[in-house]
Amino acid sequence: EIFKIYRIKYQKDYKELGLSMNYSKNQILEVEITDMSETGEGIGKVDGYTLFVKDAIIGDTVRAGLTKVKKNYSFARVVEIIKPSKDRVNPPCESHRQCGGCQIMAMSYEAQLSFKENKVKSDLVRIGDFDKDYIDSITENIIGMENPYRYRNKAQYPIGLSKDGEIIAGFYAKRTHSIVETKDCFLGVSENKQILDAVILYMKKCGVMPYDEASGKGTVRHVLIRKGFSTGEIMVCLVINEDSLKRADVLVELLENVPGIKSICININKKNTNVILGDRCETLFGEDTITDYIGDIKFKIGPMSFFQVNPAQTRKLYEKAMEYAMSNVDLNGSGYEGDNTAIQDNILSGKNVWDLYCGIGTISLFLSKKAKRVTCVEIVEQAIENAKENAMINGVTNAEFYSGAAEDLAPVLLKNGNIPDVIVVDPPRKGCDKKLLDTILSVKPERVVYVSCDPATLARDLKLLCESEYELKKVCPVDQFPHSTHCETVCLVSKKCPV
Ligand code: SAH
Repeated sequence: EIFKIYRIKYQKDYKELGLSMNYSKNQILEVEITDMSETGEGIGKVDGYTLFVKDAIIGDTVRAGLTKVKKNYSFARVVEIIKPSKDRVNPPCESHRQCGGCQIMAMSYEAQLSFKENKVKSDLVRIGDFDKDYIDSITENIIGMENPYRYRNKAQYPIGLSKDGEIIAGFYAKRTHSIVETKDCFLGVSENKQILDAVILYMKKCGVMPYDEASGKGTVRHVLIRKGFSTGEIMVCLVINEDSLKRADVLVELLENVPGIKSICININKKNTNVILGDRCETLFGEDTITDYIGDIKFKIGPMSFFQVNPAQTRKLYEKAMEYAMSNVDLNGSGYEGDNTAIQDNILSGKNVWDLYCGIGTISLFLSKKAKRVTCVEIVEQAIENAKENAMINGVTNAEFYSGAAEDLAPVLLKNGNIPDVIVVDPPRKGCDKKLLDTILSVKPERVVYVSCDPATLARDLKLLCESEYELKKVCPVDQFPHSTHCETVCLVSKKCPV
């Protein structure tokens, strides 16, 4: 304690003498947290020196112990919370600090939402160079969840041995490969626990061992559980280090009675790797796939399929994207005529639309219901195969799918006379390739709908798109991942009206 007091006094003395501080590891500094990083650390400044404080949230005043000191900033951990933020709550999950999946669970959900909304707006101003008042006037309220728990339709639990040699399921402690036991993550469905209990009971009964990374021995690596939220169908897949599972009948018997079980399967992964799934699956019971819907579009989901993990919010995100693609926005720049829900006409009818970075075609299939023709581009070939199947099971005939990089394929489509009226992009975190943005500007579509999972690259790309002929008209943040720092945003960019 004397040490701490001495340090703080020392800090003050330095300031009084007008000297710059020398910081060292284990030093304790008092700091007020004013912002939060991408990875969820609280950010605060001491005499202009930045601290990234693990487990501190905006509004906290903490004593922070420096853990890694750099010239202009330092990482730190909370030694003591001197004054808790008004937004601090008791997180329901005891393991949230160890796990690191829910970086901001100690913040009330309301505060999480305003943090994300502000992040989107401030990135658009800071990085995108847009006017602050203008951004405030065109940004809609962030779309959050009513109940921000149990929203994930997919869980992957590693299986291992505890120190006492018991079989456990849980999660890897942050940046490690040691398993912390939990069967009930608050983001996952409540059936997960019952399923994991049954799998562990089967393993005990039949002498099936967990896989051990160090020796490469043992059988069960992960349990993958997926649920179709709108159908209630559940799939359980054991990822194993063998070609087959011994006494699979016992596993099936134990799992069969879990309500909703539609598919029990194994995935074979014998490689010494961090990648969870191998490339071969075998069904032990029921169907090869489960079914789910986003809106009225049907998806068949296998153990290896990509599918958005929060279907309720995905639906809201893509409905917003549809609204922006279709609605009658006054092109004189004064925003909406009437309220947001009033989609007067379907301006997409008869139109040619591109859906770039289309993944398994979720947005594409929504678009195909309204537009004349939809052209979809995605770099992962497997995803394009899934997208084609999804189009087929939904009876969609006006969508074409191409696999390749959007920036490379866009010029080819143009050359073939495929000229878009509207372009939708939904790129990964690194945003759009500059080459693609240049192509978009040269094609001059009526509007561009930008769906983003990273506000910083969104702002960078919008700055370029809105340099001359285009204008940012609408912005809507959507919270797809409550308790994490991630934030999605939908934006509408359209041609300025000639004056
Ligand atoms: N809308 C999609 C999800 C998009 S996620 C859906 O609902 O399924 C972003 C997608 O962009 C990923 O599927 C990724 O594989 C793809 N991608 C990444 N780089 C790309 C590129 N250069 N060109 C086209 N697609 C790309």
